[in-house]
Amino acid sequence: MFDINNILRENIKNLKPYSSARDEFQGEASVYLDANENAFGSPLEQNYNRYPDPLQLQVKLRLSEIKGVPPRNIFLGNGSDEAIDILFRSFCDPGVDNVILVPPTYGMYEVSANINDIAIKHVPLTEEYQLNLEGIAEAIDEHTKLIFICSPNNPTGNSMHREDVETVLANFNGLVVIDEAYINFSRQKTFIQELTEYANLVVLQTLSKAWGLAGLRVGMAFASEEIIEVMNRVKPPYNVNEASQQLALKALENIDQVNNWIREVLTQRDRLVLELKDFEFVIDIYPSDANFILVKTTDPKGIYNFLVGKGIIVRDRSKVELCEGCLRITVGTPEENTTLLQTLKDLQ
Ligand SMILES: *Cc1c(COP(=O)(O)O)cnc(C)c1O
Repeated sequence: MFDINNILRENIKNLKPYSSARDEFQGEASVYLDANENAFGSPLEQNYNRYPDPLQLQVKLRLSEIKGVPPRNIFLGNGSDEAIDILFRSFCDPGVDNVILVPPTYGMYEVSANINDIAIKHVPLTEEYQLNLEGIAEAIDEHTKLIFICSPNNPTGNSMHREDVETVLANFNGLVVIDEAYINFSRQKTFIQELTEYANLVVLQTLSKAWGLAGLRVGMAFASEEIIEVMNRVKPPYNVNEASQQLALKALENIDQVNNWIREVLTQRDRLVLELKDFEFVIDIYPSDANFILVKTTDPKGIYNFLVGKGIIVRDRSKVELCEGCLRITVGTPEENTTLLQTLKDLQ
């Protein structure tokens, strides 16, 4: 049985969080002289002289409507990368605990584990880029606190089989973190609706990809109230700044625009797959549920350098295990994709 008290670090269990001026007085007042802010304003057209809402309630209320989960089950971070770091800091004892990663996958899990001095157990995906359930079961020990599953996966683009993810959720007494950064591009259902089913589930999403707000740094974690409460205690008090909160709130009103872009990206993804597969240097294109495709080529470095010379940058993933020969290509605008395809024609 999952019990958060079995995985919480002792120091975090006992942590008294920082109490800000806005934590200590929450009503409405006419004169605020409690936070050492500049009472005159900001040297800008818009004022940012007041500290932002530490718990980002307005943004969460809007997200709650869109995602169908109560605000108390939502954590917001300075990108989902911050949520990843906070999970390590909350649940993993440096030098003692370990995490299971299933490469090839998103690089930040490993970096964050290393920063926090958490041992990593690698259980590579199968040749089909699916979970190795036996390997994961064997790797779990008493100090395993987190398992990261990225679905749709970066850099391979595919989604993990849902039953496999549920098997991990049902059989692991630590946290299973499902990173859904690319879920908006996927035919698969989000795991957010399973929060009531699995107390050990954390779902990560972000405004950085489909929502087109990578520069604002707003990431989301969805989990049980008790997990969210811990993450809120551990996070820096003002981790999402006022400009980001205001702009995110505004952007969340434009969901139709985002859905149109998603449709366009999927059309363009199909187009890239269709046209790229006829190039001689293309060996394989992996099925993608994301806004990028992984393309196996005969000469990744040569193609990469050729494209760089033409001012087009893709990602060389050929040094990554199980991605030998592969370039990761983000789906661009129709014009950008045309430029890419035209340029590649000159290469053959
Ligand atoms: C891009 C990406 C993120 C996004 O991180 P942010 O910090 O929210 O920008 C998270 N996970 C994966 C797998 C990604 O590819």
